[in-house]
Amino acid sequence: MQHPGLSDAPPDHIIYVWRGGKIFPNNVMAQPDMGRDIQAASGSLLISLPQQRVEQTGRRAHELAAELYPLCRSLTGEGVRGTLRRLQELIPLTINEIPSGTPAYDWVVPDEWNITDAYVLDGAGRRVIDFNASNLHVVGYSSPIDARVSREELLRHLHTDPDHPDWIPYRHTYYRESWGFCAAHRLLAELTEAEYRVRIDSRIAPGSLSYGELYLPGTEPGEILVSTHICHPSLGNDNLSGIVIAALLAQDLQLAPRRFGVRFLFVPATLGPIVWLSRNEPVAAAVLAGLVLAGVGDDGAPTYMRSRRGNALIDRAIEHVFRHYSPAAKIRDFAPTGYDQRQYCSPGFDLPVGGFMRTPNGQYAQYHTSADNLKFVTPGALGDSWRLIRMTLDIVQENLRFENLSPKGEPRLGPRGLFNDAERLGLLWLLSLSDGRHTLLDIAERSGLPFWHLLEGARQLEQSGLLRRMSERDAE
Ligand code: ZN
Repeated sequence: MQHPGLSDAPPDHIIYVWRGGKIFPNNVMAQPDMGRDIQAASGSLLISLPQQRVEQTGRRAHELAAELYPLCRSLTGEGVRGTLRRLQELIPLTINEIPSGTPAYDWVVPDEWNITDAYVLDGAGRRVIDFNASNLHVVGYSSPIDARVSREELLRHLHTDPDHPDWIPYRHTYYRESWGFCAAHRLLAELTEAEYRVRIDSRIAPGSLSYGELYLPGTEPGEILVSTHICHPSLGNDNLSGIVIAALLAQDLQLAPRRFGVRFLFVPATLGPIVWLSRNEPVAAAVLAGLVLAGVGDDGAPTYMRSRRGNALIDRAIEHVFRHYSPAAKIRDFAPTGYDQRQYCSPGFDLPVGGFMRTPNGQYAQYHTSADNLKFVTPGALGDSWRLIRMTLDIVQENLRFENLSPKGEPRLGPRGLFNDAERLGLLWLLSLSDGRHTLLDIAERSGLPFWHLLEGARQLEQSGLLRRMSERDAE
């Protein structure tokens, strides 16, 4: 199957490129301070994430979300599999199937739920509620039913939102056998008949829980975890946005140089991470940074929820990116109420995993309703989220440690042709703090300079023989 624009060759993958003596104004991210640096630069230049590339990625993400939008995803079932199979056309994702009944710590994988049709018929045989119009009309994991019920009984099984009478709420009944429908509140006025026929063609039977996994190996021990939930039906921000951004990041990072491995998980919320952790404890121990992506496509400000540790590398990396490249973004402290980071951060693991989102769940009216649709999610916000996450993961990958090879007194930069770059690239900061104990992010935080200025400065000092790159093993 051809998907124009999505299965094309992936875009160029090197996003931070340093070029001597050339200026590429169209490629410079719209950042006033960075613009000045480009103008003032002689020698090497920072070409940051090109705006064109950010916009292109946002558009691709939105197109992919639109393709996946109609699928009826849930905790288990064909909607999830269909979603993962579509992602397999973009990235070499492994689909894992964990049989119903498999224990995972305090949980058990439930029976699988699948649905083909559902409706409520009036006396004239008209579908007054129709699963085919929106999969949100059926409560997720509803048991099958085919019965005539009184209006009163139907209303007991019908969920509406009086505050937003045109929106269909999203509900599920994962761990309690039940059936139900959801509809726009204004429909209630039209339900005047004494009796209705309700039918849900669903099946709850032993099967499996499906999740997707892709591991991209690195050259040093340790890995970065990117996790997103795949269990919501036709909802845009929560969480098609996370699914498509994770998929495009994976496609991009496949081609990027990687010091550390990167593992992508596409899992049903809560149970998915718990199942994965229960089967991968040794792998989990190697996670040195991680992000849960959820609700990353609305136009609100980016928000980061810190890991339980609060000052892990991932927390510091994203705070650095926000400070320099997204001043309106917000940081929240860890709370055991967010998305799946609370599983990765549970005390038996305490992994350094935080949550990247835009408007936090529950703080926008469209949350878990039919108004969380493809209009609520915008290409601009998707692209911006991708940009910030990509930069954050790059800091984790590039957070190198150096040793000053001329540590007794300050070495002379002039004879090495570096004096003009000393201030701009923080060369003196690099020489001063490169004692093997400080990483580039440590130096960036202490000096107030952007990480990538220091990275370029370190490369120059390395070429001049003044710094030696250390491996993480040297530092231990
Ligand atoms: Zn949700």
